[in-house]
Amino acid sequence: MILMNNKKIPLSEPNITGNELKYVTEAIRSTWISTKGMFVDKFEDKIAKYVHSKYAIACQNGTAGLHIALILAGVKPFDEVIVPTLTFIAPINVVKYVGAEPVFMDCDKYMNMDIEKTIEFIKKECKMTKNGLQNKRSRKIIKTIIPVHIFGSACNMVELMNIARKYNLKIIEDSTESLGTYYTEGKYKNKFTGTTGDIGVFSFNGNKIITAGAGGMVVTDSKRLALEAKYLTTQAKDDSLRYIHNEIGYNYRMTNLQAAFGIAQLEKIEDFIYNKTKNFKLYKKHLNSVKGLKLLDFPDNIRSNSWFYTLLVEKKEFGMDKNTLMYKLNQKGIQSRPLWYLCHWQKPYKKNQSYKIEKAVRFWKIGLNIPCSSYLKKEDVLKVIKTIGRIKEKNNF
Ligand SMILES: *Cc1c(COP(=O)(O)O)cnc(C)c1O
Repeated sequence: MILMNNKKIPLSEPNITGNELKYVTEAIRSTWISTKGMFVDKFEDKIAKYVHSKYAIACQNGTAGLHIALILAGVKPFDEVIVPTLTFIAPINVVKYVGAEPVFMDCDKYMNMDIEKTIEFIKKECKMTKNGLQNKRSRKIIKTIIPVHIFGSACNMVELMNIARKYNLKIIEDSTESLGTYYTEGKYKNKFTGTTGDIGVFSFNGNKIITAGAGGMVVTDSKRLALEAKYLTTQAKDDSLRYIHNEIGYNYRMTNLQAAFGIAQLEKIEDFIYNKTKNFKLYKKHLNSVKGLKLLDFPDNIRSNSWFYTLLVEKKEFGMDKNTLMYKLNQKGIQSRPLWYLCHWQKPYKKNQSYKIEKAVRFWKIGLNIPCSSYLKKEDVLKVIKTIGRIKEKNNF
């Protein structure tokens, strides 16, 4: 996968150089290609071991996992769920799947959900009632918070778990972007993202740190929740001979083919993280010395999986805004992408409550994701860096 000079550099592509073909072939030869098979059990086992979680339940994709997590958390129609506005839309849409409403929260300096503001919102704008934490404005009950560990970063879970326990809130960690990230200091030292809250969810979509084509994994230390997750993702079948269903279930199972692919990818995850982190540092060294540019850091107290890199482009100092830079990079065959359009601005959510959103807007204005595939070599990264430098020079003359 050597990128020649005239070759395009995409934003993020899967790295398929391990045992993928071997394991998928094994699955096909075994004729177990659908939603049962030893690779599914194995993949669950291996993910649970990797993140040190007691249970892992495979599912069709990360969105399905988040949907199930909300049901497990007991979120019902007309409840509310606190979510960040700066994220991919999936953790917001699932709130609607269960008939509840999102309340949008700002992000912090690392682009993760602002935990200080979340606590302020709970203390100032809500009150404890016999039904649970009530939003004083909407009078609805807040059952759950979904922090999202953005781009391989990690939220401040210590403070969040403290407030969650105090107000009886369930925490669902959207760890779909942060498999492999763990804390290196403090109360959660050596704990992986996805394992400090009540339920964690991972994704194996094509652009994630490892992929299974598509796929998701729900992790928890609660046996009760794990059994319930398995039950709900497999059509809530209570009797597999007579087909008795005592609840409404979902066909959210992962296939054996997906799992075979995922296992091969998991074998490589530490290599991917190593390369991505090395490339992140190379970008940082060069780009941070360009006037008007800064690569957003990951917090000091974590080992990040370095999944996605965010370049902050200050228009005045750099000489052009991030959209112009994106357009010019694209002309040179280098793909980049602006941050997600904020969720509280999206058409289905315009009427939902949002709380003091400031930093997210600022990041949205200046943030650009730049190429980060784990197979990028030093010369590829240097090519992106040089191209950005040339674009700036030309613009100034
Ligand atoms: C990718 C992603 C998801 C959804 O995962 P899928 O497997 O694509 O359904 C959810 N949340 C965030 C933040 C994501 O980036």
